[in-house]
Formats: sequence, C-alpha cells, structure tokens
Amino acid sequence: MAETEKDILRGGQFLVKETNCEDIFTPEDFSEEQQMMKDSVIEFNDREIIPNKPRFEAKDYALTEEVMRKAGDMGFLSVAVPEAYGGMGMGFVSTVLTCDYISSGTGSFSTAFGAHTGIGTMPITLYGTEEQKQKYVPKLASGEWFGAYCLTEPGAGSDANSGKTTAELSADGKTYKINGQKMWISNAGFCNLMIVFARIEDDKNITGFIVEYDKNNPNGITLGEEEHKLGIRASSTRQVFFNDTEVPVENMLAGRGEGFKIAMNALNVGRIKLAAACLDSQRRITTTAVQYANERKQFKTPIADFGAIKIKLAEMATNTYVGESATYRASKNIEDRIALRVEAGNSHQEAELKGVEEYAIECSILKVAVSEDVQNCADEGIQIFGGMGFSEETPMEAAWRDARIARIYEGTNEINRMLSVGMLVKKAMKGHVDLLGPAMKVQEELMGIPSFDTQDYTELFSEEKEMIAKLKKTFLMVAGAAVQKFGPDLEQHQQLLVAAADILIEIYMAESAILRTEKNAKRFGEESQSAQIAMSKLYLYHAVETIEKKGKESIISFAEGDEQRMMLMGLKRFTKYQNYPDIVDLRNEIAEKIKEENKYCF
Ligand SMILES: Cc1cc2nc3c(=O)[nH]c(=O)nc-3n(C[C@H](O)[C@H](O)[C@H](O)COP(=O)(O)OP(=O)(O)OC[C@H]3O[C@@H](n4cnc5c(N)ncnc54)[C@H](O)[C@@H]3O)c2cc1C
Repeated sequence: MAETEKDILRGGQFLVKETNCEDIFTPEDFSEEQQMMKDSVIEFNDREIIPNKPRFEAKDYALTEEVMRKAGDMGFLSVAVPEAYGGMGMGFVSTVLTCDYISSGTGSFSTAFGAHTGIGTMPITLYGTEEQKQKYVPKLASGEWFGAYCLTEPGAGSDANSGKTTAELSADGKTYKINGQKMWISNAGFCNLMIVFARIEDDKNITGFIVEYDKNNPNGITLGEEEHKLGIRASSTRQVFFNDTEVPVENMLAGRGEGFKIAMNALNVGRIKLAAACLDSQRRITTTAVQYANERKQFKTPIADFGAIKIKLAEMATNTYVGESATYRASKNIEDRIALRVEAGNSHQEAELKGVEEYAIECSILKVAVSEDVQNCADEGIQIFGGMGFSEETPMEAAWRDARIARIYEGTNEINRMLSVGMLVKKAMKGHVDLLGPAMKVQEELMGIPSFDTQDYTELFSEEKEMIAKLKKTFLMVAGAAVQKFGPDLEQHQQLLVAAADILIEIYMAESAILRTEKNAKRFGEESQSAQIAMSKLYLYHAVETIEKKGKESIISFAEGDEQRMMLMGLKRFTKYQNYPDIVDLRNEIAEKIKEENKYCF
C-alpha cells in the first residue's frame, strides 16, 4: 500500500512524534531483491577486496581503479542511477545497502566507491540538465568513466563557500576559464570527470561545473603527488590545479551561484552513505575480534571468557546493531518520501533532491554517530588483539587507521553536530516541525507536580519507551530554553550546540534500536530477540547517561538561580529509571551470544 504524507515522519519530527515500531523499516525487512543485492555485494567484497588487502595497503592505486571497474561490470556503480541513464534505479535503501556491504574490505575502496557513486555522480543526477545527464551519467554508471568532486581548497575546508577558484566567462560567451587549486580530492588520480566549484566574478556563492579530464589532453589541469595518508592508503587523494581550464558554458551545473546548494545537498546524501559505509567494517571487526578472543588463551582461559573482554565485545556488537537500525530507518524514510513526491507529480530528480534534503538532520546524526562507533570498534578490536593488534600483520591495525577519516570528511563531526541542531531550529522557525508547542508543554510539566503512580512495566520496552519520551522532553527543555535565551545568537554558543546535538543523536539512535527490536519481537517472538533486547536496553542506558551529563552541563552554562534549580530537577526526573537495567547481565548475554556464534550474528 502506498504510504501517505501523514504516515511518514518529516525530517526531525522523530523528536516530537511517537513512532510505532510497525512504521519503521529494519534490515529484517529487506525485499528478496535487496537480499540478492546484499549477497552479491558481500560475495564481490570477499572475492575482490578482502584477499587484496595487502595490495591496497601497499598503495596500489591501479588495483583500486581495476576493482572499481569490476564493480561497474557488476552494476554496483549504477544502483542509485535512474534506468533512463543506464542505471538500475533501485531505490534509496538498495543504494545504502550497497555502500554498507561493499565497504568492509578496506577504507580505500569504500572511499573510492563513495566518492564516485556519491559526490562524483549525484550532483549530475540531482542537478544536471537532460543533456548533461544523457552525456555523462551512463558513462559514470557503467564505470567507463570515474568521477571526483573538487570542493575543498587550501583555504576553504569547512568554510566551503569561501573558495578562491575562479570561473571567468570568455569574450564570446561560449566557455568559462577555471583557475585555482583544490586539495584532498579523492579519485583525482584516475578520474575522467570532476565536479568543480568555482566563483564567477565576486558572486556571494560558488558555482558548480562539470569538467572533463583527459590525461592525454589535460586542458590546463595538473595533479599534485599522491598524499601520504594515515589510512585509506590505496584511495587516490591528490591536489588538482586548474590553469585556464576551458569549460563549455553548457557544463555549468544548475544556475550561476547555485554551487553551494549543490555541494551541501550532495553532502547530505554522502553523509548517510558514509554512515552505511561504516557498518560492515564494524560487523567484520567484531567478528574478527570474537574469533580471536575465542581462540586466544591466557591464564589457561580463552580471553573471550574474561569479563573485561566481554564488555568490549558486547559494546562493539551493540553499537553496530544500533547503527544499522538507525541507518536503515532513515534510508526508508527517504525512499518513501521520494516515492511520495514522484506520485505527487515531481520529476524523479526533484523528488530525490527534496526527499534527501528533508532528512538532512538524520543524515548528519548518522554521519556523526556511526563514524564514531566504527572508530571505537576498531580501537577495542586492537585492544582485544593485545600486542598483535598493534601489528600490521593483523587486520585491526589498518581498520583503525582507515576508520579515522570518517570523522573528518563529508563535513567534520563538529560541523555536522552543529548543523543537526541548527537545521532543527530552522525547521521549527519555518513551522515544518512544531517544537514550540511540545516545548511549552514540557515547561508546564516542570511547574506541575510529578505523578507518583506506580506504572506497570511488564510489557516489553514499556519502561524504555517511556524513557525515550522523557529524553525527548529533556532535549525540548534544554534546547527550548537555550533558544529563548540566545535567540539567533545561539549559533555563537557552540559548546551548547554540541551538547544539544549529542542529546539529539542519542535519542535517535536509541529509539531506532528499540523500535527495530520491538518490531522483530512482535513478529518473530520475544525469545528469538533476547540478545537484541539486551542490546537495545544497554544502548539506552548509555544514552541516558550521556544525556544526563550533556543536559547538566548545558543547563548550568546558561540558567541561574531558581530557573537552574527547576531545570536540573526536570533533568533528574526525565532521566530517572524506575527499574535500572543490570548492564553487567545485559553485556554478558550479548557477549555470550556472539561468543557462541563466533561472529557478529544480528
Ligand atoms: C582523505 C581525504 C579525502 C577527502 N576527499 C575530498 C574530496 O573528494 N573532495 C573534496 O572536496 N574534499 C575532500 N576532502 C576534504 C574534507 O572534506 C575536508 O578535509 C573537511 O571538510 C575539513 O576541512 P579542512 O581539512 O580544511 O579542516 P578545517 O575546516 O580547517 O577544520 C579544522 C578543524 O576545525 C574545526 N572547525 C572548522 N570550522 C569550524 C567552525 N565553524 N566551528 C567549529 N569548528 C570548526 C573542524 O571541525 C576541524 O576539527 C578530503 C579529505 C581527506 C583527508
């Protein structure tokens, strides 16, 4: 049955509306077609990427290009591309799952894959004219050509709209001449096409161009040497210099001055895909870690039997499960919104653009949360391997180095934290998400007398769902008061924004896991979901701790006297468990399950 507008939460609305577990998509809902795609990507990863890890580590850029071409032959580069331009047009969830399962072999390949299929191709599918799409997209979708995205400059990183690269119209009005320097450009070494952002005259905003690159006829384009990087060693990353590079006027993307918008929207898509690209790494790291821990004996005991190691295994598996839950939940929201807009008469291009933009908050949340989880996972993976974890001979060392970049590109995690809250406040101002009404209700509740009724918590997750509702109130209380206090100057109070973002992130992630597990418990039986229930409860416990800490730090920073006391009491009330979960038991249950299965098994 087609979804209707009212069935699908708007971006950011998770905070003020209760979601039924039946209304979220989970990895257990993959269709047969999606399952087949997943299996074939895993098989490709096992065959082409994992066994070649030493060559990737030895900076074999030619191998990256060769495997990219093979991925093209398999159709993996075209999953997101509409059929009209030679793609499979498979929908957003399939796009995300391809990024997920292709990414665990090495960060080198996943970066090349993501830069090409995401920021290298999407600006044309999303903003290109019909002619531009017909001319370039089929080549990119098949892997005949590879794409790169040239936004960053030596002086323009997070402040992406401040680039100095120029585009000057020729006297005959037929071409633009591009001059400037771009840096950190993924795929630069083997691309045939670059999306280049440059400024025309003294425009406020940059403009996007499609620039062809032929090594034998470079048209004023030169490349710097390959960067020597901490990780993702076989991902080609070079500087790109443009010296009077001529680009036909018809290669301008969207309109003059539209480049910043293109850049930001391409990054929205990139962010959720990057989150997905951090998932299978976590699954593989957890599996490798538990296999080692089951084998390795110290004090005549497999180290997996030690409580100190069980903590790590349980937390690694839990974060992976939570990341999956939130990523696929948001992916399906995006897919449904795209479908809704197509049904309403939008072109696919417009529908996709607006569909992803709608969930920009969730895309930022996921980017931050999952990129930090994969880093922690790899770090604990090294710790479980002990000294061997520090050796290049074992997979953990490279996994740790490869994971580090995810917190930096596609907008740093600092920028994404601030964006997530900033975008939410803007949506509230525009009336797209009603934060004000619920925030006022929370204020009234703070003045009232709390209920001392004894609740019945026998139903699965009844206390946890009540807790999620209270955590949402915490966000509304803290962020609402901060907005009242500082108004538009709030953006100057970054420490507050970062704390609010952490609260927002924890709510979305914890809620997603609980809803996924609840849905699965209802259809597959509670017993079958015992470890998943434990993971959902364990994550929520940590989320509550984080929210309590961040909430307290925020309240103390801007409220004084009675107001401070009242808000701190509210915080205590909103983060209070009636029945604390025994997190030692929860961790034991999760760790025992993956020890027994000898792999990440959810
Ligand atoms: C391996 C790799 C591949 C890349 N691939 C590409 C690519 O293909 N195309 C491309 O265009 N770019 C690419 N990048 C660039 C990447 O997107 C930038 O590095 C990133 O956006 C950060 O910019 P920066 O490095 O200039 O850091 P800066 O912007 O200088 O940031 C430095 C620090 O300051 C913080 N900071 C900056 N501004 C603020 C602020 N307003 N408030 C609070 N904190 C702030 C940042 O969060 C960060 O911690 C790549 C980078 C790397 C390392």
